[in-house]
Amino acid sequence: GAGLMAGKRGVVMGVANDRSIAWGIAQAIHAQGGQLAFTYLGEALEKRVRPLAAEVGTPDALILPCDVADLASIDSVFEAVKAQWGTIDFVIHAIAYSDKDELKGRYVDTSPENFKQSLYISCYSFTYIAKVAEPLMPDGGSLLTLSYYGAEKVMPHYNVMGVAKAALEASVRYLAEDLGKNRIRVNAISAGPIKTLAASAIGDFRLILKWNEYNSPLRRNVSTEDVGGAGLYLVSDLSRGVTGEVHHVDSGYHVVGMKAADAPDI
Ligand code: NAD
Repeated sequence: GAGLMAGKRGVVMGVANDRSIAWGIAQAIHAQGGQLAFTYLGEALEKRVRPLAAEVGTPDALILPCDVADLASIDSVFEAVKAQWGTIDFVIHAIAYSDKDELKGRYVDTSPENFKQSLYISCYSFTYIAKVAEPLMPDGGSLLTLSYYGAEKVMPHYNVMGVAKAALEASVRYLAEDLGKNRIRVNAISAGPIKTLAASAIGDFRLILKWNEYNSPLRRNVSTEDVGGAGLYLVSDLSRGVTGEVHHVDSGYHVVGMKAADAPDI
């Protein structure tokens, strides 16, 4: 086949529905000839993921259950993928979780249980996936995760998730060093706010969307297609010299230091 991703195969983790960022990236890779395996969390989401995976030609054997809180289920995914394909070229990790009740109020009130679970699911899972995927990438590869500006600056209600994303971004740098000698690249996209299932857990999300629209240099919000294009770049050979990077796909919001002069009041 033709295309930037012709002959390349990878695993997409984190599709919940057709509004998921992971789905935007999957579509961009598929359009360039890449082959995709998918994981889903639980039977309720399986019903949504199967038809989407079928749209991009994924065989049933490569649509796999995975709860990253259970490391054995991550092992099973990569064992199944190895049995089918032998090797892979990329993994997309678009997974995060915190108790919704702790994505409002004060960060200082975060419970130790939710701190542990949020960091484990949203950060450690990517490190474990890198460890398990490495042997499947003998000719190099690309690992990609998703972050948010709340890792860098205090954003309203982001709380423990901001701390988890900061740890995730640091993991990207350490993993890039560990795996670079084996030509495996590790990067993150820091996406602007997008109305997805996960985002609906964040308090005042509508206000955050408006604020970004009014105050980002491009004066608009980003779409999952926008993130998909950047994701395609980061898993393809176009970015072969790039690793350890946190690439912002946020209409430029992260460069501004003040409310825009033309921003309406919200
Ligand atoms: P989404 O709800 O579509 O995707 C989140 C996914 O995480 C879901 O598929 C869910 O099943 C999965 N997940 C949660 N816990 C899991 C577990 N224990 N095991 C396996 N999977 C689990 O929402 P999204 O916005 O597309 O989120 C994808 C990534 O993008 C997340 O890391 C999120 O933090 C990040 N992100 C989102 C935004 C935004 O505004 N939507 C902005 C920046 C970064």
